[in-house]
Amino acid sequence: MPETTQFYIDGAWVDPKGGEALDVINPSTEEACATITLGSEADTNAAVAAAKRAFDGWAATPPADRIAALERLYAAYKARAEDMAQAISQEMGAPIDMAREQQVGAGIWHLKGFINAAKGFQWDHPLGDQAPGERIFYEPIGVCALITPWNWPMNQVTLKVGAALVSGCTMVLKPSEIAPLSSLVFAQMVDAADIPAGVFNLVNGDGAGVGSQLSAHPDVDMVSFTGSTRAGRLISIAAADTIKRVSLELGGKGANIIFPTADEKAGKRGAMRVFNNSGQSCNAPTRMLVQRDRYEEAVAQAAEAAETVAVAAASEPGKHIGPVVSDVQFRKIQDLIQSGIDEGARLVAGGTGRPEHLNRGYFIRPTVFADVTADMRIWREEIFGPVLSISPFDTEEDVIAMANDTEYGLTNYIQTGDKEQLRRVARRVKSGMVEGNFKSFGMGSPFGGFKQSGNGREGGTFGIHEFLEVKAVSDYD
Ligand code: NAD
Repeated sequence: MPETTQFYIDGAWVDPKGGEALDVINPSTEEACATITLGSEADTNAAVAAAKRAFDGWAATPPADRIAALERLYAAYKARAEDMAQAISQEMGAPIDMAREQQVGAGIWHLKGFINAAKGFQWDHPLGDQAPGERIFYEPIGVCALITPWNWPMNQVTLKVGAALVSGCTMVLKPSEIAPLSSLVFAQMVDAADIPAGVFNLVNGDGAGVGSQLSAHPDVDMVSFTGSTRAGRLISIAAADTIKRVSLELGGKGANIIFPTADEKAGKRGAMRVFNNSGQSCNAPTRMLVQRDRYEEAVAQAAEAAETVAVAAASEPGKHIGPVVSDVQFRKIQDLIQSGIDEGARLVAGGTGRPEHLNRGYFIRPTVFADVTADMRIWREEIFGPVLSISPFDTEEDVIAMANDTEYGLTNYIQTGDKEQLRRVARRVKSGMVEGNFKSFGMGSPFGGFKQSGNGREGGTFGIHEFLEVKAVSDYD
């Protein structure tokens, strides 16, 4: 086991060249569970240099061999699934059973998705009959900085590393400094998978340090970022001087539209989706819009769901929800709940403070507000906690306008028994994903947003394309 203070650079665990120590806090206990190093510029440069040296060799490696490497990583990931679940559960508070099934499971799903997509991928093809001899090639873009958040750590890391690796890119991963332990386990898996030295590198650090250094680095060709819209904006600015590609997966404020023909449990199901992962999902359906005839029924179901969902420490087995990730998030969410009360929303479940049985840890009371209006902060801002806002609507036209009245555009949800209505509304809501009747998306489906939810698409073939340049060659065939 390497020291958690070390970095993985050029195929080896190395001591930092500088930087400061940072404690990783277990949000269930508020106690430090590990210490990492926030790297220095010298560490960033060493990792980028290793990735740059490895690039030509890895890019020239035949796709079949890159796929074989990804298959070895997939096997290594599955072999250490339990270690990964424990790391995620400790660092960000996912209940251990949920960490095993959903958090670790997401990584398995994405790596498999990239293996499948890469096997069917056309790395080159003729342009078409109108251009005899002309051929189109897809080539890896180069050295990639992968900057990830804490909320679904392995979901994000595997979406980026899997695609970059199989595309022929080399990379430097900078995971969230709040939840870095899972990425340290992941780097061990890469090591076990016998990936050539320098192809994958990991440096820990914060946004202002390693994150900014990577974004501005002249030898980094692309930044793939998942996180807040605030940081996405800063990264885009830092990357502008070198015109590097910036792929962004940012925040969300999804509408969940419940029409009169929705199934009878739609209100409950919508609320439970918000509470999953303690509300810390960019695609959570946090704005529930209910047609007036079904409104009070949905409000009552959501309130009941909030009152019955258990809240407990992440280490306990079972189907409860855990704490939110940090003291900063805890305070931010408390403030937003208070703003909902102050601005006149109807509090139907939860509220400020911790659940009564817990006096330590960043635990939030699952909270539901009804009669929320479009000017309220809880309707407009991404809360990232187990807090649901509900509002009534009258007509289809009205609800489409309400759903689209946000700067975000990641996922919207439509609950209706009327398929024609689902088709009609799905085409008019502005988001990268529209989930119909909570039917989950398939393997290889593109994940990403419109508007300020970002500009990238991750997963499967779409995710591979993000890491590729397109080259046209005439007189080739
Ligand atoms: P964050 O933006 O604070 O941090 C994310 C990562 O960016 C961290 O690694 C952080 O160190 C780094 N970072 C911060 N500032 C930076 C800067 N100026 N330059 C370079 N790197 C910087 O986000 P977070 O709080 O860790 O995660 C929560 C956010 O992530 C939410 O807004 C959520 O919606 C979003 N998210 C989006 C998706 C998606 O796919 N759309 C998925 C998960 C989470």
